[in-house]
Amino acid sequence: MSRRGDLDVLVVGGGAIGAALALALARDEFDVALIEKNAPKPWRAEDDVDLRVVALAPDTRELLDELGVWNGIVAARVGPYRHMRVWDAGAPGELAFDAAEQGEAALGWIVENKLVQDALWQAIAAHPRVRLVCPGDVAEVVNASDAAIVALADGTRLRAGVLVAADGAESPLRKQLGIDCVERDYAQRAVVAHVATERPHEDTAWQRFLPGGPLAFLPLGDGRCSIVWSLPNDEAARILALDDEAFRRQLGAAFDFRLGAITAATQRAAFPLRLRLAKKYVAGRCVLAGDAAHVVHPLAGQGMNLGFRDVACLRRVVRDARERGRDIGAAHVLRRYERERRSENALAARGLDTIQRVFDIPGVPAAFLRSIGVMAVQRSRLLKDLAGAAAAGRV
Ligand SMILES: Cc1cc2nc3c(=O)[nH]c(=O)nc-3n(C[C@H](O)[C@H](O)[C@H](O)COP(=O)(O)OP(=O)(O)OC[C@H]3O[C@@H](n4cnc5c(N)ncnc54)[C@H](O)[C@@H]3O)c2cc1C
Repeated sequence: MSRRGDLDVLVVGGGAIGAALALALARDEFDVALIEKNAPKPWRAEDDVDLRVVALAPDTRELLDELGVWNGIVAARVGPYRHMRVWDAGAPGELAFDAAEQGEAALGWIVENKLVQDALWQAIAAHPRVRLVCPGDVAEVVNASDAAIVALADGTRLRAGVLVAADGAESPLRKQLGIDCVERDYAQRAVVAHVATERPHEDTAWQRFLPGGPLAFLPLGDGRCSIVWSLPNDEAARILALDDEAFRRQLGAAFDFRLGAITAATQRAAFPLRLRLAKKYVAGRCVLAGDAAHVVHPLAGQGMNLGFRDVACLRRVVRDARERGRDIGAAHVLRRYERERRSENALAARGLDTIQRVFDIPGVPAAFLRSIGVMAVQRSRLLKDLAGAAAAGRV
């Protein structure tokens, strides 16, 4: 513990991002408290695959592996994808990407959110440096000059050098800290379900661009696909209301019957889609991470991956500060995190728009342009190169 028995870091929100950060810092020998309002329901192998799945990128896998939870996740249930096919309903041709060509075992992994969170919580429960406060509801945050202080609804007070708000897209803490966001409502909803198809998914993540929004088929480990179908709000309401047979038929047609008929489907759920970027990440000794800082369109499967990059960056920044004997909550330390992450997250969030503008050259097929956009956002280094080149006037 730091001086006067305080904690080093308080993390509010025990979703995947808050939990990963708490575990990473504890493994680096910081004393951490993780405050979560609702205890997550444990993941169980006998339950059907949860509807909330994410595509995890190779750098996320590396982080989870380093935190000692990846092998457990793989042993439980994942769907690696080794290929990617992207095409446009309104134009010929398609883009194909293969892990082998890039010298990688997989391009990414489809995993249930719940499983990632559960694996992290189990590791936290076994870690002596994490104090888990659950259920714990933050009533007030005070930014003092030497500590961030949290008052819980039950009257408990906790002090730490840094407080991290990882309390999700609606982040009550971000609001308490008076941090505004740039927002855009896409007026779209993502309809999600798991479906069985006539032909195997071939460990491939498929994405078809349609006039109303993209439709993705993501390969699950059990042979089914998880679909993410972005649709204008009224169209999403119509699709949600269809009976099972009509849904399967219309989904199959929207997917160009690329894997044959849709032979079975689970119930459906829908999530409103919006872009939301916090205007700053730091207020006194408090910082934002994960969806509390940025909410992006699920089109390129990046939201959680960006959050894990926040985790890796914040961890590096506070570790560096400690090695130099500095206050881990000093403004210049936290600003370093903000500088690195805010620009990359904003770039990724606006990536598709940016790429589309960059490549908006008459005569170049839309499918090609949009496909480039998807892959560019997925591989942020490429996006950075392209956007940088655009800014420099080279493209
Ligand atoms: C349809 C869809 C598809 C997606 N697909 C992908 C994908 O393929 N790849 C990808 O990387 N991302 C994807 N995402 C995004 C991803 O799901 C999110 O980015 C990620 O789940 C955010 O995690 P988080 O831990 O920041 O927030 P959350 O998971 O929202 O966790 C926040 C936690 O804070 C807690 N909390 C809130 N308020 C308080 C409080 N006052 N006190 C204590 N605790 C509190 C909540 O209970 C919750 O547990 C997708 C999103 C959608 C909607």
